Amino acid sequence: MSLMNAEQYEESLRELNLVVYMFGRRLENIVDDPIIRPSMAAVAKTYEMAHRPEHEDIMTATSHITGKKINRFTHIHQSVNDLVKKSKMGRLLGRETGCCFQRCVGVDTLNALSIVTYDIDQEKGTGYYQRFLRYLEYVQENDLTCDGAMTDPKGDRSLPPHKQADPDHYLHVVEKREDGIVVKGAKAHQTGAVNSHEIIVMPTIAMREGDRDYAVSFALPSDADGIIYIMGRQSCDTRKLEAGLLDRGNIVFGGHEALVVFDNVFVPWQRVFMCGEYEFAGKLVAQFAAYHRQSYACKVGVGDVLIGAAQTAAEYNNVAGASHIKDKVIEMNHLNETLYCGCIACASEGHKEPSGTYAVNTLLANVHKQNVTRFPYEMARLAQDIAGGLMVTMPSESDLKAPETGKWIEKYFRAKNDVSAVNRMRILRLIENITLGTAAVGYLTESMHGAGSPQAQRIMISRLVNMLEKQKAAQKLCGIEEK
Ligand code: SF4
Ligand code: FE
Repeated sequence: MSLMNAEQYEESLRELNLVVYMFGRRLENIVDDPIIRPSMAAVAKTYEMAHRPEHEDIMTATSHITGKKINRFTHIHQSVNDLVKKSKMGRLLGRETGCCFQRCVGVDTLNALSIVTYDIDQEKGTGYYQRFLRYLEYVQENDLTCDGAMTDPKGDRSLPPHKQADPDHYLHVVEKREDGIVVKGAKAHQTGAVNSHEIIVMPTIAMREGDRDYAVSFALPSDADGIIYIMGRQSCDTRKLEAGLLDRGNIVFGGHEALVVFDNVFVPWQRVFMCGEYEFAGKLVAQFAAYHRQSYACKVGVGDVLIGAAQTAAEYNNVAGASHIKDKVIEMNHLNETLYCGCIACASEGHKEPSGTYAVNTLLANVHKQNVTRFPYEMARLAQDIAGGLMVTMPSESDLKAPETGKWIEKYFRAKNDVSAVNRMRILRLIENITLGTAAVGYLTESMHGAGSPQAQRIMISRLVNMLEKQKAAQKLCGIEEK
């Protein structure tokens, strides 16, 4: 089965035996939990869309290992065109779900490993690449969702991994055995963790010799013994426990993050892709980060939804023709399409690595992600400006339904006469959801910190720009002789 559908994906999750805690208790049924289910539905969309003929070109690809048709989320990029399609896929799914659909971390990890395992082998004579390809074939054949796990808790930020007071603040190897390794530590902020079949761990920073035990990469089934998930909260998350749907804003989809603890977990050798090659930790981090910064094409799709919501809210108030409203919507579109330029550009300027995998242009991917740390905030501000204060002061759906209060809400929250109060409330709740509620995790804070915080991109930009070339160009034009 190299292409699962949404129903098969959901059923496959039911077969997992994950250890998940939320609100102080262990969950027995994760798939149907009302807080988690919308995030599962968002990942399921990546399966459903792959079966739609109109999206086949974007959502599927041909495996370079088996020649079979596979979901693009398990594909290793074989051309610049593949990279461009990945950016387009992110926008498409962001627009369909209006939230984080979580599956990108996995494909970005697989692609980064396909480059770096090959490079390690070339220098060290190891056999990681073939091992990785066997694992990749398993992922592709079963159309699995992989959680790419990079971010360690990091403890004291001024100290390297091996100097931390608590040695587990970075995930590390605690035992090497004939049949595999035992690891201990944790990964924080793990997007889509409990909706994943597999979890693929990578180091989180560049490392030196003393950190050898921390330079480790491997894959495990998400329900392997010793893995514990502790769900993160999202603003307004308990609205999903309420009877009605209206106050959720997005009535179908959502995202989630979790802290993933590895409590002395065994990993067989055939699933280990780096073990002690500390010189390559930085390269794996940078390669994953570049791919994942490209993946923030997703925010363009969520931005499409936010623009559509803001325009609708303006029309419901009958102010869409006002010049300042038009200008604000133009500005939102300008910002959103500028983001699109960045994720298309870093893909279009991609190149082939020695392993044959195509990588994005790292400088442009970092510039794109730097824009993502800013533009969605400005777009959220403009959407809230257009929406008006009612977005955060209106009563609940229960009040709308109650006979004593509903009639007043219907009467006083109707704006343009042919638009019902309930539809006005729906669109305002959607704007609230994206800019202040559960989806704001993905649209705002994740835009800031996901795939690396703003400073991480600024460091990469300073490293990657060709300053000498710029100086030479300037000096030549004004007659400064080269030394
Ligand atoms: Fe994918 Fe975007 Fe979610 Fe990251 S934030 S996992 S890129 S949808
Ligand atoms: Fe992310």
